[in-house]
Amino acid sequence: MINYNIQNQKISFNNSISVVVKREDLIHTFISGNKYRKLKYNLLKAREINSSALLTFGGAFSNHIAAVAFAGKKYGFNTVGIIRGEELEHKSELNPTLAFAKSCGMKFKFISREAYRTKTNLEFINQLKIEFGTFYLIPEGGTNELAIKGCEEILLPEDADFDYVCCAVGTGGTISGIINASNKYQKILGFPGLKGDFLQQDIRKFANQDNWKLITDYHFGGYGKIKPELISFINKFRRDNNIPLDPIYTGKMMYGIFDLIEKEFFPPNSKILVIHTGGLQGIAGVNDMLKRKNQPLIEV
Ligand SMILES: *Cc1c(COP(=O)(O)O)cnc(C)c1O
Repeated sequence: MINYNIQNQKISFNNSISVVVKREDLIHTFISGNKYRKLKYNLLKAREINSSALLTFGGAFSNHIAAVAFAGKKYGFNTVGIIRGEELEHKSELNPTLAFAKSCGMKFKFISREAYRTKTNLEFINQLKIEFGTFYLIPEGGTNELAIKGCEEILLPEDADFDYVCCAVGTGGTISGIINASNKYQKILGFPGLKGDFLQQDIRKFANQDNWKLITDYHFGGYGKIKPELISFINKFRRDNNIPLDPIYTGKMMYGIFDLIEKEFFPPNSKILVIHTGGLQGIAGVNDMLKRKNQPLIEV
């Protein structure tokens, strides 16, 4: 599939804690990080069963929508995106994420937030089949058994040295794969970018060990909520380490890790591996929004 070479990049601190970032964001600009991991076995399956179309769900800035659209174009699938927010249909201009997905040939269906909540109902899916013909269905955020299998490939044998592995959490698919691939003595810390009480249960469905914990203090008010403090952290982090972060997931996670280091959450000499799950395509859309609100922008 995609050729890539993952780098582990060390960040320096003035203490005994070692932090290394696994640059999964460098896999690809649009099928980046965990979205590549989650799609890999799903695309192979879709091809195996001769499916000609992929259908999936997402919000207007979704990294998953961008990834599926690009994968469809690259590997020869038609793509349909069911997008949350019917008001978007009548906007004169699509945001950068949707404009990109459209340029890859993705067809959209914009639905209300209420309808979006019923998207896993059989009735709703059958209606989509009538409208779009047969398709290979990829759930919201791409999380299913095959996605977890792909995410189990994020950790490599040489990562067994780390005491902690940190990753951002949305649906919990990525962290589940990491948990399954980890060693019992390692602690896996998940940083949700949203408020979600359902997450614990969702992760328990897929994860086969209990060496993990969610750190729920760094969602900054909820999914897609952004504060100037977060933006200035992301900008400083990039200047100091030459690593870009996205404001929806990885920026919040890294902010949390730095805060925890400051608060001496990690014992001396801890070795921390941070998974950079990508998501950088979303920056352009967030910057458009920040510009309209006259707030500081993410430096690119
Ligand atoms: C989608 C996404 C996540 C969340 O992954 P889940 O498997 O849904 O928990 C984390 N980071 C980035 C950059 C993402 O795009």
